[in-house]
Amino acid sequence: MNVTETSGENILENKGLPEGIWMQCKKCEQLFLQKDFEENFMVCPKCGYHMRIDSKKRIEFTVDEGSFKEMNNDLMPVDFLDFPGYEDKLKSSYLKDAIITGEAKISGYNVVIGGMDFSFMGGSMGSVVGEKIVRAVERAIKKKYSLIIISSSGGARMQEGILSLMQMGKTSAALAKLADNGLAYISVLTDPTTGGVAASYAMLGDVNIAEPGALIGFAGPRVIEQTIRQQLPEGFQLSEFLKKHGMVDIVVERKNMKYILTKVLEFFVKK
Ligand SMILES: [Zn+2]
Repeated sequence: MNVTETSGENILENKGLPEGIWMQCKKCEQLFLQKDFEENFMVCPKCGYHMRIDSKKRIEFTVDEGSFKEMNNDLMPVDFLDFPGYEDKLKSSYLKDAIITGEAKISGYNVVIGGMDFSFMGGSMGSVVGEKIVRAVERAIKKKYSLIIISSSGGARMQEGILSLMQMGKTSAALAKLADNGLAYISVLTDPTTGGVAASYAMLGDVNIAEPGALIGFAGPRVIEQTIRQQLPEGFQLSEFLKKHGMVDIVVERKNMKYILTKVLEFFVKK
């Protein structure tokens, strides 16, 4: 991770410290060794700030080592609206789209799991994200596995217009089918989970688990404040606030996520 990504000011350069060994927290601005940060599941060892991580790391931290088998990684987005700049944006990332899905094991429990990438166009949900989630649900039904989706998204992808909004209905309908089959869906919400993703599959878990300090909501706080012309309470739309108001079931630190998921799976799955 580049230090300039985590902080506006490059303190390391000012202090003559090499990047790649030292890092600075975006929140508390304290310095620490990159090694300590990585060993701490990419959470600030000083203040506990949960930095955004990519889908591969997400899945690596969550599932049993070597158990993840990716599926549907040949699905590619198409610029069917000829939206200005979309094609270039798609080509500028090493990722194919904003989610990876596959089968895996968590403490021996079989699951179908998806992890979203905020770094790919703000984790936005277009037709590929929607389709991959629906196929993940179908796989879970076929194999009678539980489903886990780890969300991180700014919402629906405007470059795909109405077809991205349609994914809200499509994924929600698929999840209803999963429920009809008596299978569990655990939603993990990470910073940020907003817009059409929060308004569809991210909030539909049988259990909704959030990482500490994650921004979760439909419209962002700035938009709401401007619309209702009122100041919002402190911490509004953060995990802890949502837990207090019944929108989130558990707030779990990243280092404990696998343990808590295991406990939830233990509750739902008959051995
Ligand atoms: Zn910190």
